[in-house]
Amino acid sequence: MDLQSTPRANRLHIGFYGRRNAGKSSLINLVTGQQTALVSDHAGTTTDPVIKSMELLPLGPVAVIDTAGLDDEGDLGKLRISRTMEMMDRTDLALLIVSAPDAGDTSLERGWLEELKKRKMPVIGVLNQIDRVGSDCVENIRSGLEEDMGIPFTAVSANGREYRAELLSAIVKHAPTDFESPTLVGDIFSRGDAVVLVAPQDIQAPKGRLILPQVQVIRDILDNGGLALTVTFDCFPKLLDSLKELPALVITDSQVFPQVNSILPRDVPLTSFSIVMARSKGDLSTFVRGARVINSLKESDKVLIAEACTHAPLQEDIGREKLPRWLRERVGSGLTVDISTGLDFPSNLNEYALILHCGGCMFTRKQLMSRIIKADAENVPITNYGVAIAAINGILERVIEVFPELKNQ
Ligand code: SF4
Repeated sequence: MDLQSTPRANRLHIGFYGRRNAGKSSLINLVTGQQTALVSDHAGTTTDPVIKSMELLPLGPVAVIDTAGLDDEGDLGKLRISRTMEMMDRTDLALLIVSAPDAGDTSLERGWLEELKKRKMPVIGVLNQIDRVGSDCVENIRSGLEEDMGIPFTAVSANGREYRAELLSAIVKHAPTDFESPTLVGDIFSRGDAVVLVAPQDIQAPKGRLILPQVQVIRDILDNGGLALTVTFDCFPKLLDSLKELPALVITDSQVFPQVNSILPRDVPLTSFSIVMARSKGDLSTFVRGARVINSLKESDKVLIAEACTHAPLQEDIGREKLPRWLRERVGSGLTVDISTGLDFPSNLNEYALILHCGGCMFTRKQLMSRIIKADAENVPITNYGVAIAAINGILERVIEVFPELKNQ
């Protein structure tokens, strides 16, 4: 399904609620990075609620709901408030905005919070316009609001781009989990199609089992009515010969990308487990943009390899040995490659020219997204192992063409 055509119902609906001129529209523009909402100094510029569908990286397709002020007045104001209340029924995640200069009286906000909570949605408080109060008061106001209203509050100023990452992180952290990708690959093949999986062998294969991403992909293919045919690379040519028709899709271990690519007919879509996981957990378009940076790396650059767990490195470990070696062969032996593992994620991200992240099978989508947001806040490109390996092997375009949402990338 094309993300541009993602039905509104399938989008995460993020509602912005607050008094007139609490800065809702400016906050929408800050979060979306574009002039989505009309901003004015005059109270009550947003009359009827406005829903705008958009791609909000790294969250994916969302619908942003801009509402009229909940303190609107007069007959027309009452009508606007009732429309805003209707929007609450369509909201999946609410941002309740309090302007810092008005934070002394939250009687109105507490009433709306009850309305939002009745609808069982997560609510995040946003203390906005902190540039309009003394900086030494901000933390007191923020923690006071948290205590008073019983919801988390993030302190920002819609005028400062530096607050975007903080706000996005809060949205990602509190977004309902059922907005995680409903399928891994079920949308890129049809029922009854054969999907061939090329699993790792020998040293890369854990003894006696498949690794989690492979198990998850097999389950997803079965759940979506596909034929999951799993082989190791040495049996792959024989399997292809034995099929009456070519498979609808081949998903391979990234490490045998070049070999699979060289024998698989060009018209059969090819991708990797790691790329499939990147799509469901992270943000594939961000990772593709990151992988394209590999071509412009210089020997004097520093890159970061980030692994989400602290597994004991294998001989010829992909993250600790192979990727650093392939990158140095390409860029020059002087390339600095740092490695971070587990929950450690360096704070000096801005020193890196590129971050290469593992598939993050031990991470939730929110954890991986929060790393993407941190990288984006520092303007550091980020990619994932599988996407990077495809780029290094010159087959990036082939392995992403099966994903309709990347058509114009
Ligand atoms: S969390 Fe990352 S490094 Fe650890 S097993 Fe999963 S993909 Fe590999």
